[in-house]
Amino acid sequence: MSGDHRRETIMSSKILIAGSGFAGLWAALSAARAVSLAGREGDVEVTIVSPTPNVAIRPRLYEADLTDMHPDISALLDAVGVRHLAGLVDSVDSVARTATVRTHDGGWTTLGYDRFILAVGSRLFRPDIPGIGLVFDADQHDSAHALDRHLKALAEASETPARNTVVVAGGGLTGLETATEMPGRLRAALGPDAAIRTVIVDTAPTIGAAMGAEAVPHIREALGQAGVESRAGVRVAAVEPGAVLLSSGERIETDTVVWSAGMRAHPLAATIPGEHDPLGRVVGDAFLHAPAAPGVFVTGDTVKAATDDQGNFNVMSCQHAMSLGRVAGHNAAAELVGLPLHPYSQPKYVTCLDLGPWGALYTEGWERAVRFVGDEGKAIKREINGVWIYPPAPDRDAVFGIANPDYVIVP
Ligand SMILES: Cc1cc2nc3c(=O)[nH]c(=O)nc-3n(C[C@H](O)[C@H](O)[C@H](O)COP(=O)(O)OP(=O)(O)OC[C@H]3O[C@@H](n4cnc5c(N)ncnc54)[C@H](O)[C@@H]3O)c2cc1C
Repeated sequence: MSGDHRRETIMSSKILIAGSGFAGLWAALSAARAVSLAGREGDVEVTIVSPTPNVAIRPRLYEADLTDMHPDISALLDAVGVRHLAGLVDSVDSVARTATVRTHDGGWTTLGYDRFILAVGSRLFRPDIPGIGLVFDADQHDSAHALDRHLKALAEASETPARNTVVVAGGGLTGLETATEMPGRLRAALGPDAAIRTVIVDTAPTIGAAMGAEAVPHIREALGQAGVESRAGVRVAAVEPGAVLLSSGERIETDTVVWSAGMRAHPLAATIPGEHDPLGRVVGDAFLHAPAAPGVFVTGDTVKAATDDQGNFNVMSCQHAMSLGRVAGHNAAAELVGLPLHPYSQPKYVTCLDLGPWGALYTEGWERAVRFVGDEGKAIKREINGVWIYPPAPDRDAVFGIANPDYVIVP
C-alpha cells in the first residue's frame, strides 16, 4: 500500500478524537506535533472528547493502592494547544462528518469534523450467565474502586469461608495479575491470620497456557508461592449470593467473584461501517483509516491492525495503543496539512506479567521467549507501569520530541 500524500488546503479544519486513554492522548499529542511541524498552528483545531481530562491507568487497576491511577492531563493538553470537551461521544455520522456528544452537564451537542479518531478503548466482556450482575472487576476506574471498597468492607462482615474467599474468573494476563495480588489484599483487609483463600478459574486446560509453554512453570510457581488455587479446564457456570458454581459441578463459597475473562471493543466501534473482528474491533488499513468510513481513523483497542508483515496483529494493550495513537493522530493531521502519511508498524512485541510477591515474568516476541523472571522481571514491570505508560510532563518541546509516529517505548 502506498502513502496517500493528499494535500488539502482546508483552513480552520477540525480533528475530533473520542477518548483520552493511551491511544486518544497520544493521538492528540501526535496530531498537534504534525500541525506544528507543518507550521499550521491556528489552522487545525484538535479536540478530545472524554468524560474528564484524565487517563485511566487501566493496567494497574487490580493493585491495592489506587492513588495516582487517573492522572490529570489538562496542563499537558494546554501545553500543546489541544482542547478538551467533557462528554461522551454517542454516535458518529461518517457521511455528514459529525459526532453527537452527550455533554458533561447532560445536554447534547453535534460537532462537525474533518477527521475523526475513534479511541474509546475496550470494555470487560461479561457473558450472559446467571448472577453475572453480582461480580466485581478491575477493568475501569470506577469498578476498581468498587472492588476496593468491597474488599475493605469484608472486615465488617462476620467470618465465614465465603467472606474469606476470592474467586478470579479468567486466567489470562489480567486474571493472573489480579489473582496473585488478591492474597495480599485479603490479608490487609482481614488481618494476617485470617484463613484466606484465592481461586483462579480458567477454561484452558492449563492456567497460563496462553503465555506459552516456557512461561507455564514460572506461572505455576508464582501461583503456588502466593497460595492461589487453580481450577483449569472449567468455566464459571453461575454466580449466586455467597457462592460460585463451576461447570465441573464444584461450588465454592465466596462473597467476591472478580471477573477477568477478556475484553471487547467499545460498542461505538460496531457503528463504524466496515469489517470487524470477533473482538468487535474495526479492521483498519496500514494508516489506521477505517476503510469504509472516509475521514475516520480507528486506534487503540478499537482497531485490528497488522503490526508487521509476518501475520501478527496488535493485541488490546497499552504497548500497542500508545503507538497506534501516535500513528492515527499523525495521519489525521498529515492529511489536513499536507505531510506524508506514516504506516503503522510495530514488529517488537514484549509482555511483562506481574505475578505478585514472586515477581514478574518478562517475555519477548510473539512466541513469548522468557527473558526475565522474579525480581528482575518485577523491576521492569515497575518501570513500565510506574513511568512509561504515564502521561509526560506538560513540556511542549519535550512532548513533541516523543510524539512522532515511529517512537516506540519498549525495554
Ligand atoms: C486490569 C487490567 C490490566 C491490564 N494490564 C495490561 C498490561 O499489563 N499491559 C498492557 O499493555 N495492557 C494492559 N491492559 C490493557 C490496557 O489497559 C488497554 O489495552 C488500554 O487501556 C487500551 O488503551 P485505549 O486508549 O485504546 O483505551 P482505554 O485506555 O480504555 O481508553 C478509552 C478512553 O475512551 C474514553 N471513552 C469511553 N467511552 C467514550 C465515549 N463514548 N466518548 C468519549 N470517550 C469515551 C474513556 O473514558 C477513556 O478515556 C490491562 C487492562 C486491564 C483492565
